[in-house]
Amino acid sequence: MKHDIVIVGGGAAGIGTAASLLKRQKNLDILIIEPAEQHYYQPGWTMVGGGIFNPSQTVREMAKVMPAGVTWKKDAVATFEPEQNAVTLISGDRVSYDMLVVAPGLKLDWEAVSGLKESLGQYGITSNYRYDLAPYTWKLVQELTSGIALFTQPTMPIKCAGAPQKAMYLSCDHWYKNGVINDIKVEYHNAMGALFGVADYVPALMEYIEKYNAELCFFEMLVGVDGSNKTAVFEKTTDSGTERIEKQFDMLHVCPPQTAPDFIRESPLAAADGWVDVDPFTMRHVRFDNIYSLGDVASTANAKTAAAVRKQAPLVAANMLQQMAGQEPDHKYDGYGSCPLTVERGKIVLAEFGYDGKLLPTFPKWFIDGLRPTKMAWALKESILPGVYWNGLLKGNEWLAKPKL
Ligand code: FAD
Repeated sequence: MKHDIVIVGGGAAGIGTAASLLKRQKNLDILIIEPAEQHYYQPGWTMVGGGIFNPSQTVREMAKVMPAGVTWKKDAVATFEPEQNAVTLISGDRVSYDMLVVAPGLKLDWEAVSGLKESLGQYGITSNYRYDLAPYTWKLVQELTSGIALFTQPTMPIKCAGAPQKAMYLSCDHWYKNGVINDIKVEYHNAMGALFGVADYVPALMEYIEKYNAELCFFEMLVGVDGSNKTAVFEKTTDSGTERIEKQFDMLHVCPPQTAPDFIRESPLAAADGWVDVDPFTMRHVRFDNIYSLGDVASTANAKTAAAVRKQAPLVAANMLQQMAGQEPDHKYDGYGSCPLTVERGKIVLAEFGYDGKLLPTFPKWFIDGLRPTKMAWALKESILPGVYWNGLLKGNEWLAKPKL
């Protein structure tokens, strides 16, 4: 089996790149290797956990989002042979290519927290990081009228770094509006040492931490869960070492530890930290010229978001076509990513930034001031961005991306 272009993964990045390639050149021979029957709009899961979206708004059949003109192979890549320009699949098939795009997302490492996997979805333990569990978050939020609610964030990088605290804000907003917030002790246990990686957004977020009277517990990593006893175990790092702390809870929202997928970490494509080793600007592999990577699996230091993919996919497509035409790829990614922080139902702090935390607002300040909570940013997230995803990114209708078609 041989194709001009092979794409590993039919998520936001894989489908987006295929669509952008075909927009630029219709007759390309593209194979997408993707094992899943469903394609998820993961940014919608925060809204499901907050009771705003129905789960059905965040899923479509994979067959329906495959761009016309690509071949879909329902299989999974197992190993890479970059020197032979080939990949081997779980089924045993071998596929060769002229150019390869690697976009299988990242691994949610539920098993890194002992006792977690078997407790999820019961005992008040939930996570917006899974389609089937986000509705359980909303159920728990509605049922809780007093007690202890814990929210956790692991070490970076994770996809949508704001998602763990978005779950907390939307839960607190419900408790606040129902007059029970003073009866619920809210704690945010964060393995990192800051509320958000880009300091400019922290003052606006802190106003909500104070409004909801949430306690911030930094350098505390969730390492274990005892579901039936409703106990969470954290490893707290201090100057003098680490100590284990046990906490009781009535509700526990977990953001799991995240790594590159095993088959990527163990492959010749991986950098030392396991992610696919690409140039941060061209997104081309640093050792294998005919391989590109984007989305959550890439080694680039941007915020791992669909918003980043929206900028990366057209750029990767344009660079690949330049290379196929015998030119040097010269389109450069600025590290743009975006995190709409849902601080209350109806308002969002719209964090948009690139490499080194440089602020990259899309809109003028009078329209959306990203450093403040705004109704306009909420309207964008609730009503505009799902369409930008399904009908823009996945169809090659590029929105505010470069290079222009
Ligand atoms: P994915 O979309 O995860 O797709 C990866 C695909 O690869 C999957 O279809 C998978 O089946 C496939 N695959 C896996 N292994 C293999 C294999 N071996 N062979 C072939 N295919 C394989 N982003 C935002 O922009 N804004 C937000 O507000 C936002 N909120 C989020 C909230 C939550 C709770 C979550 C979970 C994510 C959020 N994101 C948000 C992040 C966004 O969803 C991801 O960054 C984006 O989906 C990354 O796209 P991707 O294609 O790299 O990975």
